[in-house]
Amino acid sequence: MKIIDIRESTRPIKSNIRNAYIDFSKMTLSLVAVVTDVVRNGKPVIGYGFNSNGRYGQGALMRERFIPRLLEAEPASLLEDDGSNLDPHKIWATMMSNEKPGGHGERSVAVGTIDMAVWDAVAKIADKPLYQLLAERYGNGTANRKVFVYAAGGYYWPGQGIAGLEREMRSYLDRGYSVVKKKIGGASLAEDCQRIEAVLKLLGPGQKLAVDANGRFDLKTAVSYAKALSQYELFWYEEAGDPLDYALQAELAPHYAGSMATGENLFSMQDARNLIRYGGMRPDRDWLQFDCALSYGLVEYLRTLDMLKENGWSPSRCIPHGGHQMSLMIAAGLGLGGNESYPDLFQPYGGFPDGVKVDNGYVTLPELPGIGFEGKADLYQEMQQLAG
Ligand SMILES: [Mg+2]
Repeated sequence: MKIIDIRESTRPIKSNIRNAYIDFSKMTLSLVAVVTDVVRNGKPVIGYGFNSNGRYGQGALMRERFIPRLLEAEPASLLEDDGSNLDPHKIWATMMSNEKPGGHGERSVAVGTIDMAVWDAVAKIADKPLYQLLAERYGNGTANRKVFVYAAGGYYWPGQGIAGLEREMRSYLDRGYSVVKKKIGGASLAEDCQRIEAVLKLLGPGQKLAVDANGRFDLKTAVSYAKALSQYELFWYEEAGDPLDYALQAELAPHYAGSMATGENLFSMQDARNLIRYGGMRPDRDWLQFDCALSYGLVEYLRTLDMLKENGWSPSRCIPHGGHQMSLMIAAGLGLGGNESYPDLFQPYGGFPDGVKVDNGYVTLPELPGIGFEGKADLYQEMQQLAG
């Protein structure tokens, strides 16, 4: 058993939107195929992966460092001890050989993308859904295929206006979501409050709004927003300040009694641990958004989950960023609190297998081998093109 090829390609996921910090008009991602010599159900097993939005394609790092390390390694060194499957942990360690600690950034995206493809291959070789494999190896043995998802949107679009925002949010509610999210910090506080109040008027019983500042605020602005937002009953107040400014997050907490969320721009277990140590996050109400596809993949995310447990945090407080099926697998297999979803953005990479509908804020995952990309026709078409 061995990996015979690893292919990568940079693909556009541009959108005519912006948050408080960046616009997405030139956004890209990396798509990866890990080709093995294993045959399952009459077909060669190929694992696929991609990084989620916001950090661009990382093909150069893969081509120069991570792919050659795997293809040059003794094939048996990348397998489980009994040779029955690829070993994601050994593959991860091989990719990270001769890499210094710290400085997590683009490298964590490149490794996380390959890692996703490796896990897809591993679950296909085992001929079971990845959530089932994860529940058996690292969880309580039983996956929960029903996963909470919320609709992320509410970006600032050119010429959108309040009416456009209302139309967008209404369409998410009509599609079965119970929690919707909009951006803040790309307009004045007064204008943002108008936008929030317009959305709140659309919500029925049990429906909630989350807001996301995308790390834009200094402490003074973050506190001003906290005071203004306290008048509403929000699902959460997300990423108020710079993701690495743990003191800001800790100083903000006493000003906001509701839930806060952050972590999508922390790319290693060590960075996540610093947030838990120094960020004043509250395990009884706050949410953690680490995204494995940007942060060294699931091998590293398992370390992060262990770290959280050691610090008294339940995996159910994690709702990852990114809206991809990999995090849905982890949520179903290891009991995360849910996953982000972008109903109208970043296609064909985001979203669910065809036919999966959101029902009162939850999706039920089908029983497909691997991550289940084959169940989403438009995405699988892109993947097959890459695999050749
Ligand atoms: Mg965010």
